[in-house]
Amino acid sequence: MSLLTVEALDARHGLLQAVRGISFTVTAGETVALVGANGAGKTTLLRAIAGAHPLSGGRVTLDGADLAGVPAHRRAALGLALVPEGRRLFAQLTVEENLLLARAAGRRGPWTLETVLGAFPMLQPRRHARAGTLSGGEQQAAAIGRALMTNPRVLLLDEVSLGLAPLAVARVYASLATLIAAGTTIVLVEQDLTRTLATADRILCVLEGQILAEGPAADMTRERITAAYFGLHRDAAGQGGAA
Ligand code: ATP
Repeated sequence: MSLLTVEALDARHGLLQAVRGISFTVTAGETVALVGANGAGKTTLLRAIAGAHPLSGGRVTLDGADLAGVPAHRRAALGLALVPEGRRLFAQLTVEENLLLARAAGRRGPWTLETVLGAFPMLQPRRHARAGTLSGGEQQAAAIGRALMTNPRVLLLDEVSLGLAPLAVARVYASLATLIAAGTTIVLVEQDLTRTLATADRILCVLEGQILAEGPAADMTRERITAAYFGLHRDAAGQGGAA
C-alpha cells in the first residue's frame, strides 16, 4: 500500500495555477524525484504536501489518513518533514540547538542527535557552531538533519544541491545514500539530472504544473527527461495530455 498519496492536487498563487491536477503515490522506502525546469511547480507541490501552501483542489493522504485541514506543524508530528529550498535554519542558534528544537516537533524513533550526527559526519566538529557561520554544504546537512530529528515517515527535500560547491553536493548525497539504505522514504526535487538518475527509484517529470512523463529511474533516459523538461513531446504514459 502507498504511504503517501497525492490525488488531483491543484495549487495556486493568486490567479496563477502553479500545480494542475497532479497525482502520484509513494510507497514506503521509495525515493521519488520530481524534475522539471524553473517555475514548473515543484516547490509549490512539495509545500502543498507539507501543508505550507493551501490546496485549491485534490487531496493528500498519509498512510490512508486524509490531511485536509491538518496544519503544517501537525503534519510534521504525523511524519511529513519538509527541507525547504534555502534551508532556513535559526542562524543565531548552534547546530545542536537547531537539531534539538526539531525533536520536540516530531515523533519518537531511530533518529536522535547522535544518529543524525553519525549520518552527517561533516556536522560532528561543527555541532557547537552557530548555524549562521556554517558553509553552504554544512547548512544543507544541518537542514536535512533537522528534518530527520522529527523521525519522518516521508522526507520532502527541495533542491538540496542548489548553490553548493561540487564537493559539498557529493557529501550531502553520500549522506542521502545512507538514509536511503536505512529505508527512509523520500520525495526529492533536484535540478541535477545525473544525481537524480543515480539516486531515485522513480522519476516524475513536471512541466507547467502537470506530470508529463514518469517511470522507474532505470527506464528514464536523459533524452526522455530532457524532452519532457521542455515539453517537446507529451508522454502517453504521463498524465499531462495537451496543456
Ligand atoms: P524553481 O525551481 O524555480 O523553484 P519550481 O518548479 O519549484 O521552480 P514553483 O516555485 O513552484 O516552481 O513555481 C511555480 C509557479 O508559481 C511559477 O510560475 C512561479 O513564478 C509561481 N510562483 C511561485 N511562488 C510564487 C509566489 N510566492 N507568488 C506568485 N507566484 C509564485
